[in-house]
Amino acid sequence: MKEILKDIASAHRIVVKVGTSTLTYEQGAMNLKLIDRLAMVLSDLKNRGKEIILVSSGAQGIAMGKLHLAEKPKDTKGKQAIAAVGQCELMFLYDKMFGDYNNTVAQVLVTRDDIAIPKRKRNIQNTITTLLEMGIIPIINENDTVSYDEIEIGDNDTLSAVVADLVDADLLVLFSDIDGLYDGDPRTNKDAKLLPVVFDIDSVRAMAGGAGTKRGTGGMVTKLEAAERATNAGIHMIIANGNNIDGIYDILEGKLMGTLFVSKNFKKED
Ligand code: GLU
Repeated sequence: MKEILKDIASAHRIVVKVGTSTLTYEQGAMNLKLIDRLAMVLSDLKNRGKEIILVSSGAQGIAMGKLHLAEKPKDTKGKQAIAAVGQCELMFLYDKMFGDYNNTVAQVLVTRDDIAIPKRKRNIQNTITTLLEMGIIPIINENDTVSYDEIEIGDNDTLSAVVADLVDADLLVLFSDIDGLYDGDPRTNKDAKLLPVVFDIDSVRAMAGGAGTKRGTGGMVTKLEAAERATNAGIHMIIANGNNIDGIYDILEGKLMGTLFVSKNFKKED
């Protein structure tokens, strides 16, 4: 484990993903304390010389709060419309809060075609790496307003792993509303235990339940798919609780936190 933790501690290019259920309260109102902490910690890491890319959900969840909707629209055009409202609000807040810590952010919205079509993929890669070179923190979300079933990536767990692979990141941290992967459902089984390290995703697949909250789209299933994609691309992935954004400092000091999915470039003996 020593070599693995050392490798994580030296991560330079880091993709951080935050989910809707972390960014918002139950009714869709924004968790300002958490967003402010996120902006502070990520700005601080950038000031330390790390390259930070944020993949942020929340557009549709925040719109639900803003528009006082009890349920997310079921139809595509309804989702597309509210995403347009929420994305605007989301970036307004990030711009303001990262700005308070003297950092500049940029909005990058992608669809599946931007990843699948080689020329467009190169464009996105160039844009993100140029933003990083300029000292800017790219904030990425799916372009829900123009995405529809056939061209959608669908969830931001997958999107974050795609982005990590695209920019050849060293580490992917998924902040969620749960501490990590458990061997049972901790909401219903008090004996469920957190798995600190996973080397073989196939061996834990049966432990992933269904989707998470009604505001987000992911659950453990999409997180394991993301872990598979990231680790196959040689990137470590960690699921950690978004209520403790500062936990990323511990991660970068080589401490175990949440559930670590080890890059396929490393073995148990490392
Ligand atoms: N792109 C969606 C949004 O911003 C989130 C997708 C997800 O939570 O996985 O609302």
